Amino acid sequence: MEKIEVDKDLCIGCGACAAYCPDTFEIGDDMLAEVVKDEVTEEVIEAAENCPTDAIKINNEDAKENKEELE
Ligand code: SF4
Repeated sequence: MEKIEVDKDLCIGCGACAAYCPDTFEIGDDMLAEVVKDEVTEEVIEAAENCPTDAIKINNEDAKENKEELE
């Protein structure tokens, strides 16, 4: 399973994740975000938290714990 996924049904292509975390997210030809590096970092978790449509899903138990700690 991918650790990081973008739900393209929710993504509005605002580019916030790509601006915040360019190593991990890029805006693709469809003008929606895609994951280019499947590695969960604190920046990725923050990008997920700051996504306006909650389109970024992190499938990683450790990351979920980190996320809960950040909240
Ligand atoms: S921050 Fe969310 S809505 Fe904006 S481009 Fe990234 S995944 Fe899409």
